[in-house]
Amino acid sequence: DQLQISVQNKTKKLNESLMINREITKDLQTLNISKDLFFSIIAHDLKGPFNSLIGFSTLLLDDPVVNEHEELKESVQIIKSSSQNTFELLQNLLNWAQIQKGNLPFTRENLKIDDIVNNVLKVLSYQSMHKNIEIKTIIPDGPILVYADKDMLSTILRNLISNAIKYSHKNGTIEIICEKTTNAVNIIISDTGIGIPEERIKKLFDFQYVQKTRGTQGEKGTGLGLILTKDFIQRHHGAIWVESELGKGSKFTFTLPDF
Ligand code: ADP
Repeated sequence: DQLQISVQNKTKKLNESLMINREITKDLQTLNISKDLFFSIIAHDLKGPFNSLIGFSTLLLDDPVVNEHEELKESVQIIKSSSQNTFELLQNLLNWAQIQKGNLPFTRENLKIDDIVNNVLKVLSYQSMHKNIEIKTIIPDGPILVYADKDMLSTILRNLISNAIKYSHKNGTIEIICEKTTNAVNIIISDTGIGIPEERIKKLFDFQYVQKTRGTQGEKGTGLGLILTKDFIQRHHGAIWVESELGKGSKFTFTLPDF
């Protein structure tokens, strides 16, 4: 009997702590949803002012007075590229939040790959110029079309090309190759930068192992870029892989199948 009472008491206590546990989990979930919402609103609202900074600094860079003064021009360029970096960072964070909620818009259309690559290169031109990095694009003349979501394809290319710049030393070279195969388009982005240690390559696209490395000039990131990039490529039924040698450079290849 003593034993039975003791077992009953222990079961009661266990049930009570299970209930408390469940309530704490519920509270944490509610807190998490509020935190995500709060964060999304802030990130979204911050995009507006940064967009204005990009717009106005672009206008200023067309101004003859600004162009006459090298130091002034350099300052405006820094304002523009810092605003662009922050804008892209916010965009990656917002995309990540939308993926968590499962409501990321996905609209596909026929896109000319060279147009998208050139737009992305324009956005990243200051970063590459600043490090004196030569970017070679090898895209065949007859337009290569991909059936893709424009924003997602731009984000994929922006993340991969900006990484190539970020992890390259001054005077490095980046090569962007687009090629059409019988049933897919392959895009290869290679750099002559710092490279990635072998043991990190397998974990590079895994959220559980998010690791952030500063760029060669201390550039910061979120560590989310490649995870988003892989997710976006998989939504197009494509694949991404990387080959890299420490100290020599990295080569990211992704493929988007035809539809
Ligand atoms: P981050 O915002 O930190 O750049 P990413 O998800 O884009 O995050 O990349 C994750 C990590 O992968 C980086 O912190 C860096 O260590 C490594 N990495 C990505 N691209 C390259 C590259 N081209 N060369 C060397 N390392 C890279």
